[in-house]
Amino acid sequence: MLTDKVALVTGGSRGIGRAIACTLAREGAFVLVNYNGSKERALEVVEQIEKEGGKAEAVGCNVSDFEACGKMIEEAVARHSHIDILVNNAGVTRDGLIMRMSETDYDQVLDTNLKGAFNTIRHLSRQLLKQKSGKIINISSASGILGNAGQANYSASKAGLIGLTKSVARELASRGICVNAVAPGFVDTEMTRAMPEKVREDAVKTIPLGRMGNVEDIAQTVAFLAGKTGDYITGQVFCVDGGLCI
Ligand code: NAP
Repeated sequence: MLTDKVALVTGGSRGIGRAIACTLAREGAFVLVNYNGSKERALEVVEQIEKEGGKAEAVGCNVSDFEACGKMIEEAVARHSHIDILVNNAGVTRDGLIMRMSETDYDQVLDTNLKGAFNTIRHLSRQLLKQKSGKIINISSASGILGNAGQANYSASKAGLIGLTKSVARELASRGICVNAVAPGFVDTEMTRAMPEKVREDAVKTIPLGRMGNVEDIAQTVAFLAGKTGDYITGQVFCVDGGLCI
């Protein structure tokens, strides 16, 4: 159980982040549901959590903005006096072949997916060190392990998150802080629904378990790592991908 724990889930307004927020709240955590563009949907997540008897609040912040992340975390610590769990889930895609990929598409993906995680970790780490405990879970991707044609920017950001995870895990381990990555395969969300139907069908054929993942598959792994069950696990990458990365 996560009773008395405070969790910050970036990109908690939709998809995988929404499921993570709801799952951590069901385990008893107070959840800060971060959003960037989808305020209404973040408020719906808070409403759903409260309906189920949990506690949550919506916090707006573009994770690619270093100063804004500092402000979000400072204000959250002032309100709650601690943050125990950080889930860096916010992510975007701007797919395209390398020959045609624009600098903007490269930068936007790296700024959100990789620098966004740096920004939150950088601002929260001092507080976690003071607390001498904490769990950081970064949502990477099978694409960061295997690479994926048309996703050079996205794969680079997700592979970068694995390096960030392992380095920060080594730095914070002596204070009892665990840092891990979860690498989903193909999960049914708006992100993958934006792919052409044929690409989705072909993708499913490459998954040994023969189906796309659902958001709960990812949320359960995050909850496992966030709880006492994850106390002796750090610096690891958990592929939740139906066998894609075997
Ligand atoms: P999604 O449905 O597109 O949702 C993306 C979430 O990220 C939204 O809540 C969005 O919030 C938030 N976000 C985007 N840019 C942001 C920013 N600058 N600041 C704060 N929040 C931001 O995507 P998803 O499929 O749930 O993916 C969630 C994570 O899992 C991502 O990191 C993704 O790369 C990873 N992943 C997904 C899959 C998959 O198959 N779906 C596979 C592997 C890894 P707003 O709408 O409020 O802007």
